[in-house]
Order: sequence, then structure tokens, then C-alpha cells
Amino acid sequence: MKYSQRISTLGESLTIAISSLARDLKAQGKDILSFSAGEPDFDTPKIIKDEAIRAINSGFTKYTQVGGINELLVAISDKLKIQNNLNYEPNEIIVSNGAKHSLFNVFAALVDSGDEVIIPSPYWVTYPELVGYFGGKSVFIETDEDDDFKINPNQLKSAITSKTKILILTSPSNPTGMVYSKDELLALYDVIKDTDIIVISDEIYERLVYDNAGFTSIGSINDDMLNRTITINGLSKSVAMTGWRMGYAASKDKTLIKMLNNLQSQSTSNINSITQKASIFALNGDANMDIDNFVSAFSERRNLAHKLINNVKLLDVRLPQGAFYLFINIKKVNLDSMAFCKDLLEKEGVALVPGIAFGVDGYVRFSFACSEEQIKDGIKRIDRYIANL
Ligand code: PMP
Ligand code: GLU
Repeated sequence: MKYSQRISTLGESLTIAISSLARDLKAQGKDILSFSAGEPDFDTPKIIKDEAIRAINSGFTKYTQVGGINELLVAISDKLKIQNNLNYEPNEIIVSNGAKHSLFNVFAALVDSGDEVIIPSPYWVTYPELVGYFGGKSVFIETDEDDDFKINPNQLKSAITSKTKILILTSPSNPTGMVYSKDELLALYDVIKDTDIIVISDEIYERLVYDNAGFTSIGSINDDMLNRTITINGLSKSVAMTGWRMGYAASKDKTLIKMLNNLQSQSTSNINSITQKASIFALNGDANMDIDNFVSAFSERRNLAHKLINNVKLLDVRLPQGAFYLFINIKKVNLDSMAFCKDLLEKEGVALVPGIAFGVDGYVRFSFACSEEQIKDGIKRIDRYIANL
């Protein structure tokens, strides 16, 4: 069969590939500890599940408005106003099948052949793949561990050309867990304000911030920035709802929202009706206690994993401020990140994601969205693996 050129350039998501491999090996009876999945191990809060069951029993099982039922759009609009100081009206929001789908649709609506998209590196695996799929060019800004893997205004300025269309910001970051402060965002705005750049702000980990560090949405810093920003968020990570598939995009550009609705009306239609009803409960505060419990458990696991990894010979890691990943420096081990992860999986049954999947070698990603017992056991194995090298 002759495949389209477009699809032939698209690679598999490495984060998903490694998590699936770990799951398959486990199903075959192998003793595998996986730290590869970007997914909370917690169950979805009961109040949300109960609402989904109510929706099924009441027959809320038909097609809905393509971009989400109004009640849900209102709940998102309220959430963004109250929690993020982002002033989006319900008709400036569209709900899609997870934040990944929101991103796919937004890139489809904005990227033309030759457009440049600035992506700070390390980056989440999917961005450059989507940019390339729509014919755009990814322009990476390499960040330094000593700068907490964050870009600065000078780096941004140097990356901008006449073809630059979009900057992607991910805060808290996957894979580094770093969070941009309000001052850092204001400094980036000083560069952005003289350009036509659109910022896609991926805020999927926004609720998962530790030590009361606080989180600032870039769209909240001023009205001009709000007008330039497309805010992406969803419920997968903060409310342990990865399988429900709920994400959303918000933009002050109502034409963009209309175009995204057109695209969705010709592709997937609405996200499933039951998820929509349940999502309202996840957004309107009813699950806040559950979310607070998740955050405090993640915070303890983060401290534990950070301490234990730094006790392992040849490994170093910074304390992430958000998300649920440690981005571990393996440069003192004489192996590239792919070889390290393969060898570790074969010898000790521990699955990590190689840094190269996120654009940088010399690092591996360790997800601490699992039990403390698994963290202790896994790091013991990593320690043994390094000791035997
Ligand atoms: N953005 C980032 C940075 C992520 O890590 C993920 C996790 N897969 C997503 C978006 C997409 O999440 P989902 O599609 O489950 O909402
Ligand atoms: N975002 C998660 C991760 O980085 C889930 C996998 C994916 O969607 O790529 O592991």
C-alpha cells in the first residue's frame, strides 16, 4: 500500500510505547516495575464516577454539541476564572478527547507548511511530531539544567525569525517538572509583545505544584498576553482521569474556536457524553479534597524519590516543583539514555523513559506517580544495576 507522505513521517509516541512494553512484559509474568507512564496510579474520585453512573442511568447517552455541552463549558470557564485568573467565556472554549487531541486540532488550525514553532527542549514527545505532521518546522531552544531547564528572554529572542508563528510553553514541564514563575513569564512577554507570536500554553499539570510554589497561567499576566494565548488543559493528570479522555482549548479568538468546532464536527464529533457530565463534578470543586490528597501524596513521593535517587552513585536529580517526574542526570554513567533504559529493563525489570525521547540525551525520566513501596523497590534495583556496571 502507498501511504500518504504525511503519515509516513509520524513516529510512535515513545512514552506510550515504553509504558505499553512494560505492561506487556508484566502480563507475561515478568517482574517489572514501571516508572514510565505519565499517569496517576490513583483511582478517579468516587464522586466523579458516581456522576458518570447517574448520567448513564438517566439516559444521557446521545450525541451532544460538538465542542461540549454548555453546562460543561460554563464549568470550565468558571474554573479558569477562579483558579487561573483567565477570563474566557464559555463560547471561547472547546472540549476534545484529551489535551493531546486539543493540541492536535490547534496545530491543524494554525500550522501551515514552513511555519516555525519554537519548542523549549527538553519537550514533551508529541509537540514536534504534530508540528511536522502539519508541515511546520520545530525550532528547539536548548535549555540548561543549571537554569532549571527554563528558557530565558535572550534565548527566545534569538530563536525568533520572520517565520515564527507559535511558542509552546509547558509549565509545569513534562519531563522536567519545572514551573515558570510570574516574573519569568513577564520577562518572556517583554520579547513576545513586539511580535505576532501565538503562545500555546500547555497547563495540564497546573494543579500538581508542590511546596505552595503557586502557578501562574501566562494568559493571566495581562490582556495582550491573554489575546495571544491558547490555553490547553484537561483532567487526565490532576483528577486521575486519563482514560476518560477530556481536554480543552481556550482562546479569545472566537473564529479559532469556531474552526476547531468545524474540524471536530468532521472528525470525532463530541467527546463521550458520560465523561462530559462527570467532568463538571471534577471542575466545580466537588473533587477538590481528592485533588488535595493526590497533591500531598505526590509531594511526599517526590521528596522520597528525589532523596533516594541522589543517594545512588553516579546519578543526580533536581527537585521538581510540579508534575510527577524526576528528570535524572545520568551523564556520569557511560551509556546513552536509550542504552541505559534498555539495559536497566533487561537486567532489573525497571522501565524508565530515555531522555532522548524528549530531545536530550544524558537524562532519563522517572515517574513518581506510583506507591512509595514501588519507588523504594525500583530505586534499590537501579542502585544495584549501577553498582554492577
Ligand atoms: N500535555 C502534556 C505535557 C502531557 O504530558 C500530556 C500527557 N499525555 C498531555 C498533554 C495529554 O494528556 P491527555 O491527552 O491525557 O489529556
Ligand atoms: N503524557 C504522558 C507521558 O508523557 C502519557 C503518555 C503520552 O500521552 O504520551 O508519559
